[in-house]
Amino acid sequence: MSDSPASHWRRASVTLNSNALSNNLKRVREFSPECQVMAVIKANGYGHGMLSVAKQLEGADLFAVAMPEEAFALRASGCQKPVLVLHGFCNLEELEKFSALNISTVVHQAHQLNLLLQSKLSAAVDVWLKVDTGMHRLGIPVEDADSYFGQLRNSANVEKVYMMSHFANADDSENILNNNQLEEFLNVTNDVDVACSMANSAAIMRLPKSHFEIVRPGIMLYGSSPFLDASATDLGLQAVMQFESELIDIKQVRAGEAIGYGSTFVADKDLTMGVVAAGYGDGYPRHAKTGTPVWVNGQCCGLLGRVSMDSISIDLTGIDAGIGDRVVLWGNELSVDVVAAASDSIAYELLCNAGAACFQV
Ligand SMILES: *Cc1c(COP(=O)(O)O)cnc(C)c1O
Repeated sequence: MSDSPASHWRRASVTLNSNALSNNLKRVREFSPECQVMAVIKANGYGHGMLSVAKQLEGADLFAVAMPEEAFALRASGCQKPVLVLHGFCNLEELEKFSALNISTVVHQAHQLNLLLQSKLSAAVDVWLKVDTGMHRLGIPVEDADSYFGQLRNSANVEKVYMMSHFANADDSENILNNNQLEEFLNVTNDVDVACSMANSAAIMRLPKSHFEIVRPGIMLYGSSPFLDASATDLGLQAVMQFESELIDIKQVRAGEAIGYGSTFVADKDLTMGVVAAGYGDGYPRHAKTGTPVWVNGQCCGLLGRVSMDSISIDLTGIDAGIGDRVVLWGNELSVDVVAAASDSIAYELLCNAGAACFQV
């Protein structure tokens, strides 16, 4: 507790646990010991700060980002590792910059193939041909894979060709569509001598047949479980993001009184209410339901009523707590997966939002 309430900003903050990041990378290696690891650090490292995460993931073999600007920022920071841009380039200028900075690109559409074949690059680039095996997002149809592969391999602008695909349902490991996608991918890659990649975090942990040569973990590196039936702890993963704030008020609420916007929560008995300086403006999920756990002094208290922009109210009845006490929204003491489940969301979104709102390092 602080002597002077005005001595610091009483607001939510995000800090990172780098030991957890190393532990989680080690878990990836344990699940896929034969594979190279392409650490996915898009969306500002899932909200954790892309450059900090990249520095702390020295042990990864490659990095993947979504957009060219992210790869350029990595290079500008001095990162020398292979970097793959998952969306690829959209014009010649970007492609030339990839070539100059030794950045690898995905090719997922005809426009990109044509630009590559027409250009005269100073240095050839590595290309990851993305095949759509059933996700129906980015990727070329399986029927076109042979033709694309041949043209890429024959191009002087292309150094090495890889093949990749992405699962739509890896978090549901029993889903028959996973097998269909794997079969489709095996069909197009079986006859060619090429390094392949298909597995995201969920597939790394539960679909070992999809590991191929390179795995692409994202969410598991940050210490969250992609599965509903297994917690991060069950999987040996540790929380990397610590999202905290503090209690800024404590008051008594009488039975029958309502709390917060819309007066959606009405106390059915007298209770002690705490106000925490964290709201949706800080990345706390606005749709968190009454009862969502919030950690205070070693105990979990339930959220009360609607989440405001800068604050939430929690039930402190029977809890020994004072103004200024530390509150954990998620992190070591309370899994982000639990908060996500209570908010009709997923940890991916919560981490990105809190990082975008709070990251100050
Ligand atoms: C985001 C992403 C990943 C990582 O997925 P996780 O579920 O976070 O492990 C892997 N591959 C591609 C193509 C992605 O877009």
